[in-house]
Amino acid sequence: MSGVSISPQTLARTLGQDLEEVAQIGATGRGGISRFAWTDELAQAYAWVAGELEALGLVAGVDQAGNLIARWEVDGGDEGAVMAASHLDTVPNGGRFDGVLGVLGALEAVRILRRRGFEPARPIWIGSFMDEEGTRFGAALFGSRAFAGHDVSASLAATDAEGVTVSEAIAARGMDPARVGEAFVAPSLSAYLELHVEQGPVLDSAGERLGIVESITGVLGFHVIVRGEANHAGATPTDARRDALVGASKMVLALRERAREHSELRATVGRISTSPGAITVVPGECRFTVDLRPSQPEVVAPTIAWLRAMVAEVAASEGLEAEVVSDYELAPTMMDPRVVAALAAAAADEGVEPVRMWSGAGHDAMVIAPHAPTGMVFVPSVGGISHSPHEWTETADCELGARVLAGAIERLAG
Ligand SMILES: [Zn+2]
Repeated sequence: MSGVSISPQTLARTLGQDLEEVAQIGATGRGGISRFAWTDELAQAYAWVAGELEALGLVAGVDQAGNLIARWEVDGGDEGAVMAASHLDTVPNGGRFDGVLGVLGALEAVRILRRRGFEPARPIWIGSFMDEEGTRFGAALFGSRAFAGHDVSASLAATDAEGVTVSEAIAARGMDPARVGEAFVAPSLSAYLELHVEQGPVLDSAGERLGIVESITGVLGFHVIVRGEANHAGATPTDARRDALVGASKMVLALRERAREHSELRATVGRISTSPGAITVVPGECRFTVDLRPSQPEVVAPTIAWLRAMVAEVAASEGLEAEVVSDYELAPTMMDPRVVAALAAAAADEGVEPVRMWSGAGHDAMVIAPHAPTGMVFVPSVGGISHSPHEWTETADCELGARVLAGAIERLAG
């Protein structure tokens, strides 16, 4: 592919300009952006990005799952491609960086590599995965799941608020939902890279500019049922009560202590209800959810064992019965040491000592990781704000992230 002629204007564009332009596509007039799966707004953003990548000599197309993939092919190269991607869809009235930065940062990385006259030994793919957020259909990570060979047939039947199914939305764009399986090409990657805004306060509050992700959190979902005895709020003496909510409250506090003592764990009780739920009745039953986010695989089993033991112990001490029900269990995803090393070396070239961290949010990268060596790089979210029009990352930090991406691609595809 040498000898590609690229116009000086194309090479002179900046990431800041790109972010500004793409932010106009789907702008809500309320300061944010709405670009949902399979909509005209998303198609417009795809076309814009594809145009820029084609001007840089890549060949862009949309696969059968609606993923935009632009390929920088190499002569005689049948080696695994190095891919850098993220997503261009947003939450309702979302920000201009979540996902978008990973795609436009990858575009900027290609520009940097073209300016350097880089000749890759492996193909380089730049991508945007369909419906990472799951806003419209509740079928999050649709594109990356299809790309990684998951069975997405249940997601094809999911409906939006108007009752339109994913299948119908695909057909409305002139594509065939029966061919979604053809999007499964993840095994042909030799590495996958994703630049993303942190979406949390860790980097910003420490005054750090760059994070390298070592793992993406697992998600363990439970609900706990605590049973005591409903009784009269006035006539039942305090010591004679079997108050299910009092027991549950002790359990909630124990969860917070556990997370305080274990930095590789986060614990949240997000929903709680009592029965009979009357102002004048001691709660006879209490149900609550537990969301546990372990960052390391070895934390999972001890945490689950601890949860069960803690609930039993608190229940016994309060004269209650309790049950822990597991609803789902997604293991933490480890990033690949070789890809992490490539990102760290690229950061060192920029004179930056990155923070080693874990991602508390899910990303397309965790879906790709079982098929290809994967790494992620984070730049700060000012104030830790995300999924909001107030989402902000300094342009200089976005540019740093893109240069690190370029440096890592150079190492992995060179
Ligand atoms: Zn995202």
